[in-house]
Amino acid sequence: MPHRALGPRVLLRQLREVMARSEVVQDRLDKIVEIIAANVVAEVCSIYVLRDSEKLELFATKGLKPEAVHKTTMKVGEGLVGSIARDAELLNLSQAQKHPFFKYMPETGEELFQSFLGMPIFKNGKPIGVLVVQNETQRHYSIEEEEAVQTTAMVLAEIFTSSEMDEWISSTDNGNTRSQFIQAKGVVSGIAMGHVVLHEPRVVVTHFMADDTESERHRLGEAILSLRGQVDLMIRTSEFSGASEHGEVLETYRMFANDRGWVEKIESAIDTGLTAEAGVELVQNEYRARLMKSSDSYLRERMTDLDDLANRLLRTLTGRAQTAAHEDLPDASIIVARTMGPAELLDYDSAKIRGLILEDGGANSHVAIVARALDIPVVGEAGTIIGLVEPQDAIIIDGANGEIHLRPGTEIQDAYGEKIKFYARKQARYAQLRNVDSITRDGHEISLSINAGLMVDLPHLADSGADGIGLFRTELQFMIARSFPRFDAQVKFYSSVLEAAGDKPVVFRSLDIGSDKMLPYLSKPVEENPALGWRGLRMSLARPAFMTLQVRALLKAAENKHLNLMFPFIGSLEEYEEARRLIETEVFRLKSRGLSGPSKISLGIMIEIPSIMWQLDDILPEVDFVSIGSNDFAQYLFAADRTNAGLADRFDVLSPIFLRALSQIVRKCSAHGVPLSLCGEMASNPLEAMALIGIGLTAISMAPASIGPVKEMILSVELAKLQRFIEPLVGTPTPSLRPQLHAFARGNKIMF
Ligand code: PEP
Ligand code: MG
Repeated sequence: MPHRALGPRVLLRQLREVMARSEVVQDRLDKIVEIIAANVVAEVCSIYVLRDSEKLELFATKGLKPEAVHKTTMKVGEGLVGSIARDAELLNLSQAQKHPFFKYMPETGEELFQSFLGMPIFKNGKPIGVLVVQNETQRHYSIEEEEAVQTTAMVLAEIFTSSEMDEWISSTDNGNTRSQFIQAKGVVSGIAMGHVVLHEPRVVVTHFMADDTESERHRLGEAILSLRGQVDLMIRTSEFSGASEHGEVLETYRMFANDRGWVEKIESAIDTGLTAEAGVELVQNEYRARLMKSSDSYLRERMTDLDDLANRLLRTLTGRAQTAAHEDLPDASIIVARTMGPAELLDYDSAKIRGLILEDGGANSHVAIVARALDIPVVGEAGTIIGLVEPQDAIIIDGANGEIHLRPGTEIQDAYGEKIKFYARKQARYAQLRNVDSITRDGHEISLSINAGLMVDLPHLADSGADGIGLFRTELQFMIARSFPRFDAQVKFYSSVLEAAGDKPVVFRSLDIGSDKMLPYLSKPVEENPALGWRGLRMSLARPAFMTLQVRALLKAAENKHLNLMFPFIGSLEEYEEARRLIETEVFRLKSRGLSGPSKISLGIMIEIPSIMWQLDDILPEVDFVSIGSNDFAQYLFAADRTNAGLADRFDVLSPIFLRALSQIVRKCSAHGVPLSLCGEMASNPLEAMALIGIGLTAISMAPASIGPVKEMILSVELAKLQRFIEPLVGTPTPSLRPQLHAFARGNKIMF
C-alpha cells in the first residue's frame, strides 16, 4: 500500500537501533533520513540544522543530490525551510513550488518534488533545525503522517542534545549566545556579577523514546494530579488576591492544569512511543507556535503561563525541586525569576546569591524589601529575560539604574570588575570603623542607629557597629507573611529582635499599614488617594483590634525590659492621646492579672504629617521621644508623591525650606528636653546626614549599609564650623543648598 506510514512506534524502534550504534554522527544521520523516508514512503527526507543562530544548513538527505549536503544553506525566514524555523510551525503542502515562500535551490534537484512536509526540530522549546519529507506526486500528507514526522523530529532532538553532536556542530545554537544589554528598572541598588540560575529551573528533556507506554501514561497521570494539587495550594496560599496580575496567572495555571484537551494531547503523544516528558514538550511546542502567532497580546501572555506550567509538570515528572533554592547553587548566583515571593527568597542560601532579576516586580514588591535587607541588588521589570538567558550564563546587574549585561564582553566585565573592587575597598575601610566612636573632630558625639524590620536585618546591628535600632518597621513582617501573624508568632518575633539587640535600644514602630504598604490578606478600602487616606496610626485607631494584639505581644516580649514604641503618621495631639490610652489600657490589663510587663515604657511620635508642626508645644510635653520620618515628612510638606520617580528631582530635602522646618523641630524638642532622632532615608546619605548634624540633630537612624559612610563623614567634620556655615544659608531662598554643602565638604576634606 503506497503512502501509508508504518506508524511512529515501528519508526521509533528503528531509530532507537540506529541511535544506539557507535557510528559517527554523520553516518547515523544518513541512516536516519533513510529510515524516515522509507517509513513515510517519501522519495526525499532531509535534515537541516541551524548554525550561528541565523543559517540553516542541509546536514543529511535521502533523495536530494548528495553533493548539496553541507553546501546548501538558507537564512532563517528564507524559503520554506527557513520560514518553518522562523515560525516554529510545520508546513504541509501538496504543491510546494506554488507556495509564496518557495525558493528554488538548483544544487539540490528538488524541483522534481511537488509535495512537501516540513517540521521544526526543537531544543528547549526553540527551533534548532527542520526535518523535511518530499514526494514527487502531488499529495497532502495525512494527520498520521504529520504525527509520525513530528514524533521523529522530537526524537531527533535527542541526538541534537548529545554532547557528541554539540562538538560536531560546535556552532549550532539556539540563539542564546550573544552579548546583550537589557535596560530594566533598578529596584535595589548595588552591582553584582555572577552566573544565571533560573529560579524555576528548566528541564532539558534528553530521553525521548519510551520503553513502556503504559507506565509513561501512568507517570503522566500521577504528575498531573500532583500538579493540580500544587496549583490549588499556590492559589490558597497566594499573597495576592485574585484580582491582581499574579492572581490572574494562578487562575490561568488552574485552567490549563484542569484542561482535558491539554492532557489528552500529551497522552496521545505518549501513545506514539514518546516518554511522558517528551510528550509534554511536544505538545508545548505546538501550543507555543500557535499562541505566538496570535495577534491577541493577552493570549500571547498566557503562553508564558502555559510554559511555566509545562515546566512545572516536567519538574514534577523528573522529580526535580520546583525552585533552585534547594539545589546546589554556584557561588556567585544571580537568580532570574518571573516573579518571586519574599519567603521564597529567604529559602535560598543568601551567602551564595549575588543578585536577583525579576521579570515582574518593582521597588515596592515584597521580595524587594527582603532583598534590600539581605543587601542583594535587584533589577525588576526585566521584560521576558527568562527566554534570553541560559543557566550558567555570565551576567552583570546594576541595581541602581536597572542595567543588565547578559554574556558581557571582556571590556564590560573589566569595567564592572573595577567598580566592584572599588566598592570592596570602601567596605573594608568602613569595617575598620566599626568599633570607632562616632565623634566629630571637635568632640561632639552623634548617635548612629539602623533601620530594620526583618530578622535578616538583625546581624547588621553588630556588623555595622550601630548604637541601636532607631526604627523597627514592624509592618514588614506582616507584609511578607501569608496571613495575619498571630499573637504567639508576634511575641516570638519581637522577643528575638530584643534578644538579638542585647543591650542596644530598639525603637519599635506600631503597624504602619495602608497606602503603598498593604497587607495582602487584609481587605483594603478603595480610596482615591491612599497616601492621604487610611494609613499609619489612622488605620490602627480605626481598626484597634490589630494594634491591640500587637501591643499585647510587644508588652509580653519586652517583659522586664525597656520597651520603646513610637506611632507613625501622627496628625494631632488627640491621635497620640488615643494611641497612648490604648497602651495604658493594655498595661492596666497586664497589671490586673499580676503580670510584670516591661520594666520601662517610652512612647514616641513620628513627625511625618506637617500639621503636627503647629502643635509641638502641646504634644512634646506628652511624649518621651520624637523621630522624624523624613520620607513622609517631605512627601506631605511638598505634596510630592515619594514613589513618583518623575518628582524626585523636583524638591530637595536639602532645600532651605525643608531644613528650616527640621531645625524648627530641633529647637522645639531641645526647648522641651525631648530626645529627637531622624529615621527617614535622608539620614542614609552622607551629604544629607552632614546637613542634619549641621542644623543640630545628634541622633540619626539609617539603612545599615550607610553607617560606615556616614561615620566616616562624622569623623572628618568639625561640627562648630559646619554649623556656622549652614545657619545663614538656611535663611536663603535658593531651591537647594546641595552645591554649597558639596563645596563645604570638598573644601574641608570631609570624607564620603
Ligand atoms: C519615613 O516616612 O521617613 C519613615 C521612616 O517611614 P516609612 O519610610 O516606613 O514610611
Ligand atoms: Mg513614614
